[in-house]
Amino acid sequence: MTGYIGLGSNVGDRLAHLRAGREGLGRAGAEVTACSGVYETAPVGEVSRQRDFLNACVAVETDLGAEELLDRCKALEREIGRRPVGPRHGPRPIDLDLLLLDDLECQGERLTLPHRDILTRRFVLLPLLELDPQLALPDGTRLVDALESVVDQRAERVADL
Ligand code: ADP
Ligand code: MG
Repeated sequence: MTGYIGLGSNVGDRLAHLRAGREGLGRAGAEVTACSGVYETAPVGEVSRQRDFLNACVAVETDLGAEELLDRCKALEREIGRRPVGPRHGPRPIDLDLLLLDDLECQGERLTLPHRDILTRRFVLLPLLELDPQLALPDGTRLVDALESVVDQRAERVADL
């Protein structure tokens, strides 16, 4: 399977956490084939007054199934120092989200594919489009066409992953 995974961090050494995530994915059975740049973005969601996030995306090749890949991402989050509980969109050293996995579509509490926030987050769209400017959702929606609806969000490329 070919997949795209989003990485985010807004606690501690944010860039080091993203890089630990990238390296951990390879060990966990998801070979990283390409990396986007790193974007600095204002936090979204319910928890205000937290530090800006760094976000990036990677392309992976894996023989793992979707659920297994999700479990390994969660294990990796804990390994990099994330506590299993905490508010949604709250501060975290690392967040690993499965954004797209081939043309898989599923809707569950535990796993929704494509990830529910792809089209509404500039910090997801920009790095994904860096990896593949033609990228589209399984239903044919082109990511590039979603960019104009998120022009108000700040996302600045600040580093390489
Ligand atoms: P956030 O929405 O800020 O990423 P969490 O990382 O805490 O919040 O994730 C909350 C839950 O979302 C996780 O327990 C996970 O099982 C679920 N989830 C559903 N779909 C996905 C997905 N595509 N990738 C990662 N987690 C997902
Ligand atoms: Mg997450």
